[in-house]
This record gives sequence, C-alpha cells and structure tokens, in this order.
Amino acid sequence: MKIAVIDDDKITIKKTDDIKLDRRMGAVVKVLGCGLCGSDIVKFREKISPNGTVLGHEIVAEIIEINSSADFKPGDKIVTSHHIPCGQCIFCKSGNVSMCKHFKSTNIMPGGFSEYVFLSEEHLLNVAHLLPENLDEIEGSFYEPLGCCVRAVHRAELRENSTVLVVGLGSIGILMAQALKAFGMNVIGCDLLSERVDLLKNFQIDAINSSDFDKTQKYIFEKTDNYGVDAVFMTSGADKAIDFALKMVRNGGKILVFASTPKNFGYPNNEIYYRELTVLGSYSPAPSDLKESLSLLCTGKVKVKGLSTVYNFDNIYKAFEDTISNRILKAYIKIS
Ligand SMILES: [Zn+2]
Ligand SMILES: [Zn+2]
Repeated sequence: MKIAVIDDDKITIKKTDDIKLDRRMGAVVKVLGCGLCGSDIVKFREKISPNGTVLGHEIVAEIIEINSSADFKPGDKIVTSHHIPCGQCIFCKSGNVSMCKHFKSTNIMPGGFSEYVFLSEEHLLNVAHLLPENLDEIEGSFYEPLGCCVRAVHRAELRENSTVLVVGLGSIGILMAQALKAFGMNVIGCDLLSERVDLLKNFQIDAINSSDFDKTQKYIFEKTDNYGVDAVFMTSGADKAIDFALKMVRNGGKILVFASTPKNFGYPNNEIYYRELTVLGSYSPAPSDLKESLSLLCTGKVKVKGLSTVYNFDNIYKAFEDTISNRILKAYIKIS
C-alpha cells in the first residue's frame, strides 16, 4: 500500500506492506480521504515528528475487514478520530481528557495519509461513527476538527448571548465561529485577509478585517457598549495576536488559546491579575465533543461545503505547500 511520509523538507509517497488484521480485534479500513490539519503542518514544519512519520488523522474511511463487538460491517463508511481517553486517570476524571496518557498514546496506524489504516477495538467502540447519509466524504472529514472547536466552546463556559471575537479565520476559525453561533453566542470574526472576512460573512456571521487596529477596536467597542468582548478565541498563532486579544477583551473576560505561537510568548501576569482575566487552553476533543460535532454537521448548524480544496494522494506535498503559503483554506487529500 502507499503511504505519505515526512522526508526531511518534503512529504513523499512510499510503498509499504499491506495491513493485515490477523486475529486482532479492530478493523482494517480503506482511507477514502483525510483532511490536512494545522497540527500536521506544525509537526512537519517545526520538525517535531521524525522522518518516516505518516501524518493525518481527519479520516473518512470504508471498513474492509473487521473483528469487533462494535456495530459496523465491511463496506460501512465511517468517520473516526485518533485518540481515546482512559476514563480512569486524574485527567479524565477532571475533564482534561486530552492530557490523559492513554489518550496521547492511542492513534490510528500508521496515520491518515495512508491507503489503509488499522483501527483498534477502542477506536471502533468510542470514536468511530457511520458517515451520515446526508454528508459527503469531504464534509465528513470535518468531524474531528469541528470536535476540537466544540470542546473549546464547552471549555470556555460562556453565558448564552456572550459576545465572542474569533481571531483568525482559517478553516478552524470558520468552524469555531459557526460552533459558537450554534451554541447561542454573538460572534464577530476577524482576519487580516479580506477573502476570509468575506467568507465568514457568507455564513451570516459578523466579520471585520483587522489590519487597521484603530478601526477594529472602534468597531468592537461600539458593538459592546465600550466594554470589549466577553471572550476572545485565539485560532491564530501570530505573536502579535496576544496583545490584540488583550486590547479587545473586557475586564473580567476570557481568552481561549487554540493555537501555538512560534516564539512561545506569554500572557502578561499583571493584565491577568488586575483585570481579572481568564486565560485558558483547549486542545483535543473528548468522545462526547465528537458526537456533538457530528450532529452539528448533520443538522447543517455548521456548514463546511466548499471550504476544502481537494488534492490527489500523489500531490500531497503540494497540499502542504499551499496550506503553508495560505493559498488555500483547507486541504482534503483524496486517497481512494
Ligand atoms: Zn485535526
Ligand atoms: Zn485518562
């Protein structure tokens, strides 16, 4: 079978042995396609993952061979995510499932950018679902990334009708803004690229180009009786965005961190203290967040049609390049 691996500064296609189920519990699935996640880009570009790594986890797949107590059969089209919490440890019991050791150690093998993948019994029982009939494969590939956004909305524990500023309107920003709206928030999105601002407006969500700081601040403050927004959701990893968030959030407000920053700058202590700010992070989704994600996609409360640019598997490196250069919003790699 073909796999795509990190190969120094490139992603290359290689051949490797087919996966056999043998007597294992679980399933061998044929990957129909896999979304390219921002975290894949970070792992590749910052050389966090070694050569030979198969990236990708936002898969839509067809079951080929299965030995499981879960209710799937060969031929079923499914969506799945890659990590499963143990449910028993201090992190799981405290609701921080994505910090669970088991969560971090579980994965789909060898990775989503592969013709075939092995899913364990745990995957099938906890995070795999049938692809709903009203969703196409590309829409289904948003199951995991939207799950991350659902988790972030829950983590922030906002009151209904809170005004939330989403900073950065890449694919995650677009999903996040729609998820916040679905949960009853007043959402404003901002980005430096006009086409992304326009894209969010197409989803009937308020958006502003934030390249002019004064104009943006005036706009935000007029919308919030001069208080600033109740929460800022940071889907942008630019260092400058931190200062921007501090200037847009109201006293006592929340900043939800949803992106890494290259220079690892922090939020200033005294701003947090004197202004009673809450700064919190949100990482990877729990099985319950993923279920909600699928229902938001299914009911059309979050729309993803047309967000992805499709690449053939052999062109996967081009998908990485185009994502890095912001030429596209989101790549979907069609694998079979
Ligand atoms: Zn992802
Ligand atoms: Zn755990």
